[in-house]
Amino acid sequence: MDPYDSPSEAEFRAEARRFLAAHASPIPADSVAPSAIVAEWGPEDEEAKLAEAKAWQRLKFDNGWAGISWPEEYGGRGGTLIESIIFRQEEGAFDVPHDALIVGLGWCGPAVMMHGSEDQRRRFLAPLLRGDEVWCQLFSEPGAGSDLAGLRTTASRDGDEWRVTGQKVWTTFAHHSDWGLCIARHDPAAAKHRGLTAFMVDMGSPGIEARPLRQMTDAATFNEVFLDDVRVPDAARVGAVGDGWRVVITTFMWERIAAIGGGERILNGLKDLIRQQGRSADPDVRARYADIYARAEALRFTMMRLLTAISQGRMPGPEGSIMKLAATDVLGDVYDLALDLLGPEAMGLGKGVPWAGEWQAGALGTPGLRIGGGTDAVQRNIIGERVLGLPGDLRVDKDLPFEEIPSG
Ligand SMILES: Cc1cc2nc3c(=O)[nH]c(=O)nc-3n(C[C@H](O)[C@H](O)[C@H](O)COP(=O)(O)OP(=O)(O)OC[C@H]3O[C@@H](n4cnc5c(N)ncnc54)[C@H](O)[C@@H]3O)c2cc1C
Repeated sequence: MDPYDSPSEAEFRAEARRFLAAHASPIPADSVAPSAIVAEWGPEDEEAKLAEAKAWQRLKFDNGWAGISWPEEYGGRGGTLIESIIFRQEEGAFDVPHDALIVGLGWCGPAVMMHGSEDQRRRFLAPLLRGDEVWCQLFSEPGAGSDLAGLRTTASRDGDEWRVTGQKVWTTFAHHSDWGLCIARHDPAAAKHRGLTAFMVDMGSPGIEARPLRQMTDAATFNEVFLDDVRVPDAARVGAVGDGWRVVITTFMWERIAAIGGGERILNGLKDLIRQQGRSADPDVRARYADIYARAEALRFTMMRLLTAISQGRMPGPEGSIMKLAATDVLGDVYDLALDLLGPEAMGLGKGVPWAGEWQAGALGTPGLRIGGGTDAVQRNIIGERVLGLPGDLRVDKDLPFEEIPSG
């Protein structure tokens, strides 16, 4: 029981624990904490891990534990956001796939729910929740990351279809995806934030090629994606023509908070590691762990503000940035401490090295979290401008007054 739970949340937590205990094994106390990173899979076992992740998602769906805060008519449980966090916390204690399908479940699905048509919600959300269809986010381009609204992929109308051409990059899981949420420019003459439209692109369409990019963790879960005159039916447009930036902002908001509730797993793993390395009495290690723990606990309050805003139907703006910035900072310190504890054992990567390379892969993957979903610098800009009221960042190509750019 968590001291913050209301009686009904405590009951929900106990029920979740019963379901998990019946279908999965707890992570043994002396094991290595699984990586905090979205699926840092070795190249040799990507297919098997994806199949495991889909099977676990299917099992949750069949038992009413997928999409906990999603409406029942779209296959969800119809619960609260707090309950979805509670489930994640409990799930973190079990040896099950974590976060492998997060791009669809955590980021794209909520955007389709918020901006898609009723037909689209009925067609796409349940297969996503059931783990049948994998999604990717086709936003970033070689010349458009932080300045995403400057993207150049074009969509030109052709009867009932659109023809989409351009290049995306850093697309997590594109090579395993059935669908991609793609932002393209339909009107090169419009102000840059207004000339964008969102589409659901069938990743099996002729004209799409995904080329995996190898990361320093040795995983190759990113891709370059080339779209060459890809035909997309107008029925797959998400939101109105010109509403692409709103879809982007919704997706980013969810991206920045989707990992909430996963921290316990890593913090508990770090505590186990301290014990296993015989360093529980080391004053320096204790101080560092206490500092990490205190900052992680303080993040709960930002999390509560965020969840309250979303539950009240508001789009939380800067809270997501505060959360992401602070959480990745704590995570960086977690892995620094872990590597210091491992000492020479921290050298090497892969299953053959000490600790199955998990802490090592996590340490190498954490810098990516400071970039994906908007870099630390971008989050600081958002906080500076929208929370602290500091003068806006210099935008030489600014096309809308600052107040009119939807917050992200
Ligand atoms: C783990 C991970 C997963 C990702 N997954 C996806 C995905 O699935 N789909 C997708 O579309 N993209 C994805 N990305 C891409 C990600 O969104 C971009 O990398 C990110 O937005 C930064 O863009 P960029 O790489 O073009 O860097 P740039 O925007 O070129 O930034 C380069 C540097 O300049 C700094 N900078 C830029 N603008 C400013 C400014 N105004 N003020 C101060 N500093 C600034 C940045 O902080 C950074 O240090 C992923 C990235 C990572 C690391």
